[in-house]
Amino acid sequence: MSYETLLAAVTAPAGASGDHTREVCDPATGELIGIAPVQDVAALEAAIDRAEAAQKAWAALPEAKRSEYLNLAADAIEAHAEPLAELLSREQGKPLNGPNARFEVGGCVAWTRAAAGTPLAPEVVVDDESGYAEMHYRPIGVVGAISPWNWPMMISIWQIAPSLRMGNTVVIKPAETTTLSVLALVHVMNTVLPEGVLNIVPGPGRSVGDALARSPKIGKIMFTGSTKVGKGIVEASAPNLTRLTLELGGNDAGIVLPDADPQAIAEDLFWGAFINTGQTCAALKRLYVHDSIYDAVVAELAKVAEATPMGVGLDEQNLLGPLQNQAQFDVVDRLVESAKASGARVVTGGTPDRDAVGFFYPATLIADIDPHQELVLEEQFGPALPIIRYSDVDEAVRLANEVEVGLGSSVWSSDRAKALEVAARLEAGTTWINSHGGLHPMIPFGGIKQSGYGREFGVEGLKAVANPHVISG
Ligand code: NAD
Repeated sequence: MSYETLLAAVTAPAGASGDHTREVCDPATGELIGIAPVQDVAALEAAIDRAEAAQKAWAALPEAKRSEYLNLAADAIEAHAEPLAELLSREQGKPLNGPNARFEVGGCVAWTRAAAGTPLAPEVVVDDESGYAEMHYRPIGVVGAISPWNWPMMISIWQIAPSLRMGNTVVIKPAETTTLSVLALVHVMNTVLPEGVLNIVPGPGRSVGDALARSPKIGKIMFTGSTKVGKGIVEASAPNLTRLTLELGGNDAGIVLPDADPQAIAEDLFWGAFINTGQTCAALKRLYVHDSIYDAVVAELAKVAEATPMGVGLDEQNLLGPLQNQAQFDVVDRLVESAKASGARVVTGGTPDRDAVGFFYPATLIADIDPHQELVLEEQFGPALPIIRYSDVDEAVRLANEVEVGLGSSVWSSDRAKALEVAARLEAGTTWINSHGGLHPMIPFGGIKQSGYGREFGVEGLKAVANPHVISG
């Protein structure tokens, strides 16, 4: 399928009225790239019914057969990698190259194959004179998936692939501003999956997303998005005690210890913070650097920031793109302006062209900032990194832990033992040593505190979309 055929397959039917369509424009150029369908709660209910009708037969297949289907889906994504990446780049804004659009489509293939290939046999939990018990993992039923706009394809796959593998069927609602990307992904997967197993309903969060969270026919919600909406989902799903995995907002801290080598770590620090132009849940969002190497780290980071090309996604040389939407541009702009007004120092960036067509915000480093400034305490979700000076590592750990969220964190040091000692004191779902944000399909990922609960990936991720069932005796 070419890009044009794929786009035509997922755009709104000709003649669809204004209420049922949304114009999709490239966030880099403002150019109209397609008309997305917008569906309502009635369409959602029909999709849930289709998923429910297909679930028993899907669950009845031998596990190996479901894995075979998933591997076929991975093959189909791989075969359409280039048109999928092009659509993702045009709609989301992320460049084709670097850790961006092609990387994201590749991630979809890798995570689908991992979900297909990870064994989860019944576990013998007791086998002695006191008794015998096995733990089995059964399908839950219909899984409702709600995904965000920053990594729209990959995060949707994280929700879809393990759910299908465990014998559930899925109804997914993509984010409003990246509908076409997820429609295209699902379209490609559905060229090989049985009818009714994977369903998609593009529609507004407030109505369609809310109705999905409230539906008594949904056994489990996989939600990735903001902490605010996540709390709404807890309330909406409470009457049914629907199972939840909540991957919510983060404000990840990185702590650079005095023995780190500024030049050696600069590139990895930069990409930890600026991957996907900062629009990443587990990106480095606050950097704490020891006074003794502060100036050197800031200077090395500035060199990388200034050398990294930003621009239109389809231009092969670019590694940073625009913000995905005006609202996110406004958040970053407001936070940087507030940091400037507080007297913090702009090292590089910080002067966007607000009249330009694209939502470009330059890669921005803000130094000598108060640890309690808004840009430090709020999730910026964009290319603006506050760098805080510290002199006592206990103080850095205290500051890192004082926010309400706890998704990722990192420690940077030439001494692994020292790094591990600091890592053990950080409140987060993941702490990386000398890197930030790298994910692996077999390593459980998720947050603590208000970054949510539940784990995705690997065996833990499969268990999260299954009902545990003890057979005892
Ligand atoms: P968002 O919460 O605004 O939207 C996420 C999804 O929820 C969208 O599909 C949206 O339509 C839907 N939604 C909105 N209102 C709803 C409602 N009332 N009921 C049900 N669904 C509703 O988040 P976003 O702006 O798309 O994404 C950015 C946020 O997501 C950031 O805070 C980021 O940190 C977080 N995020 C977290 C992870 C993670 O793995 N922890 C990953 C990516 C993004």
